[in-house]
Amino acid sequence: MNAITNHMPTAELQALDAAHHMHPFTTGDEIAAKGARVITGANGVMLRDSDGNQILDAMAGLWCVNIGYGRDELAEVAARQMRELPYYNTFFMTTHVPVIALSQRLAELTPDGMNHVFYAGSGSEANDTNIRMVRTYWDMKGKPSKKVIISRHNAYHGSSVGSGSLGGMSPMHAQGGLPIPDVHHIGQPNWWTEGGEMSREDFGLMRAQELEQAINDMGEDRVAAFIAEPIQGAGGVIIPPSTYWPEIQRICDKYEILLIADEVICGFGRTGNWFGSQTVGIRPDVMTIAKGLSSGYQPIGGSVVSDEIASVINSGEFNHGYTYSGHPVASAVALENLRILDEEKIVERVRDQTGPYLKKKWEALTEHPLVGEANIVGMMGSIVLTPHKESRASFKSAGAAGFTCRERCFENNLVMRHVGDRMIISPPLVISEPEIDTLIERAVQSLDECHASLKSEGLMESA
Ligand code: PMP
Repeated sequence: MNAITNHMPTAELQALDAAHHMHPFTTGDEIAAKGARVITGANGVMLRDSDGNQILDAMAGLWCVNIGYGRDELAEVAARQMRELPYYNTFFMTTHVPVIALSQRLAELTPDGMNHVFYAGSGSEANDTNIRMVRTYWDMKGKPSKKVIISRHNAYHGSSVGSGSLGGMSPMHAQGGLPIPDVHHIGQPNWWTEGGEMSREDFGLMRAQELEQAINDMGEDRVAAFIAEPIQGAGGVIIPPSTYWPEIQRICDKYEILLIADEVICGFGRTGNWFGSQTVGIRPDVMTIAKGLSSGYQPIGGSVVSDEIASVINSGEFNHGYTYSGHPVASAVALENLRILDEEKIVERVRDQTGPYLKKKWEALTEHPLVGEANIVGMMGSIVLTPHKESRASFKSAGAAGFTCRERCFENNLVMRHVGDRMIISPPLVISEPEIDTLIERAVQSLDECHASLKSEGLMESA
């Protein structure tokens, strides 16, 4: 990788950025004080910043660059499609070749009985579609009172008004008047933090049964759907106990509640199968897709729905759609991304080779004095930082350890994210074994430095 030098000095870029660019999920004043890291290029799993540092991106951007950075094939497909047909819409009885080809391919890849896709520009938009789609479905089936969508605390389903309401992030609900009506949240299957004295299995069962309780409290005739990520991502890569998902599936079947699997992170190989639903063994009626669909090279998302839902929705006019639903350039790029994932056997490699290799090394991090538990499936993992492993204690000063560790990682040229005091990774699926070794080395060094700093600042106290 050659450094690109034809840009302004970093400090000038940072000052301009702080002056005019409002960043998502960021304190503007902090950006102004510290300056954002300016990313200028990337290849494979490595990012390059404006000072020439090579940074291992253990988050694949925002969980999305599944095939890694720098694949010329996608750039070429995009350029070709822009010349041929840069834009046309899919409203009002029109279509185009890329969206037809992508839809056919998705019907092949997704589970049996799911052969129809409604496109969006992002995961948030797709989940907004889902809210309207499942409610319209029940309406058209003659059950208009089925409106409530049940979700979970600490879930992430997007940032728009609808999808942010589905999500269970309290700092998001605190801003802008969320949630919208008829969204209800139950507990999350986070055993480490919330399981108390219960066994993992009993706790998983109990949390799943909160769904049944909520349905009975509200009345089955009011509940349209349950939405969940097969494995919570932004909430901290929380892998549910093995008892959780079978019980959720049983409850959805028993009460005829639609199951929406939000596959925005889990989809397209992240968990070692094409979809997280396959990894956790569920049969969704709707799957939200985005991110890995195009490996982030183009903004595209969608809702893949069952044949039953499609047949009902298609029997009338669904008054819904986005200017960029099924955008031709995004569709063409997504199709090429799926070709690469398939032909290079990237999903199989995660399942059989690099996933197990990473798992072994990731789980060994529990030997570190700060790490209480390690969770990992495929290429998404978390470690929990704790002042006292045996009692699964939380830090008195919640979030400080995670923040310090994240900052140490940055200094050590590793992008690892923190969610409170959990550190999470979701690297590009193409990460090699030597790159995994580098990831682990940098993580251990950062954990050591974080531990030393917490000790010296007296922050190792339990809550
Ligand atoms: N669902 C899940 C599970 C996600 O993780 C995200 C994004 N992190 C979204 C939906 C929202 O997707 P987007 O940011 O593309 O709107």
